[in-house]
Amino acid sequence: MNIAIYPGSFDPVTNGHLDIIKRSSKIFDKVIVAVARNPNKTPMFTIQERVNFLERVVKSIPNVEVDHFEGLLVDYVKEKNAIVIIKGLRAISDFEYEFQMALMNRKLDKSIETLFMMTSYKYSYLSSSMVKEIGKLGGCIGELVPAEILEDVQTKLINV
Ligand code: ADP
Repeated sequence: MNIAIYPGSFDPVTNGHLDIIKRSSKIFDKVIVAVARNPNKTPMFTIQERVNFLERVVKSIPNVEVDHFEGLLVDYVKEKNAIVIIKGLRAISDFEYEFQMALMNRKLDKSIETLFMMTSYKYSYLSSSMVKEIGKLGGCIGELVPAEILEDVQTKLINV
C-alpha cells in the first residue's frame, strides 16, 4: 500500500490545503494529513481544534486520515510505513524553504521522497496566515476556508 504523509500547521485548514489533499488522495492508496506540533510556532488554534477541523473537512474522502505528530517528520513517516511526503507549492517564496527542508529530510533518511504539488491557480495567494489576518479584522473568509468549518473559524478569530 502506497502511503503518503501531508504535513503542516493547518492553522486553520484552507481551501488551498483541501485542494492538495483531494488531488493527492487520487494518487496514493492512503493519505495521512499530519498536524505538526511545532514548539517554535505559536498557533492560533489548538492541536485538537486543527485536527477536528481537518476531520470534518475530509470526512467524505475515504482514503484520507487525520493525525498529529511531534518531533522529526522523517521518524513519523517511517512509523506510519509511508514512503512519500507531500508538500504544496504556491509561489517562488515557498520554494527556497521547502527545497532546504526536502534536502535535509533526504539527508536524514534517503528512502523517503518529497513530492511537490503545484497549487491550483485560484489558491495561489491563499495561506492560513492570510485567513487569520482577514478573519480577525472581520473580513469575509467564506471563499478561503471549507464551508464545514467556516462558522467555527470565524467565531474564534473575531473573539481573539
Ligand atoms: P501555511 O500556514 O503557509 O498555509 P501550512 O504549514 O499549514 O502553511 O501548510 C502545509 C502545506 O500546505 C505546505 O506544504 C504548504 O506549502 C501547503 N499549502 C499551504 N497553502 C497552500 C495553497 N494555497 N496551495 C497549495 N499548497 C498550500
